[in-house]
Amino acid sequence: MPRIESDCIFCKIVAGQIPATVVYRNEHVMAFRDVNPTAPTHVLIIPIEHIPSLSHLSPTDETIAGHILLAARTVAEITGVLESGYRLVFNNGPDALQSVGHIHAHLIGGKSMGWPPFPGASVHHG
Ligand code: AMP
Ligand code: ZN
Repeated sequence: MPRIESDCIFCKIVAGQIPATVVYRNEHVMAFRDVNPTAPTHVLIIPIEHIPSLSHLSPTDETIAGHILLAARTVAEITGVLESGYRLVFNNGPDALQSVGHIHAHLIGGKSMGWPPFPGASVHHG
């Protein structure tokens, strides 16, 4: 049985209950524009099934995990950033400020970015 969470905003987008600007979809994943873009290209790539975070992936999710990365490449091509470059970001858990509990890759591009991706980066390993 596919995993679905009725309270999840991204499951509602998958079900068509909340509108989204869909960029790409196949049987495993869906990609849509972030409602609050941080760059000219900002697309979220999610598994169709509800998986709360990367930490919840299990070995049986190998196919889904692979499809997220393959879809990122496809979305980069569709949105025209394949050559110019793009960043794929998974915010996972509280320290990373994950705000939606359904795995999503942020595909960000269309502008030159900085590194590290946050201010005050420490040189100490934690
Ligand atoms: P994160 O903070 O990594 O969990 O990212 C969640 C992202 O989902 C944020 O960038 C939000 O702007 C985005 N978001 C939240 N609700 C929607 C929505 N209904 N449609 C598109 N993007 C959304
Ligand atoms: Zn969900």
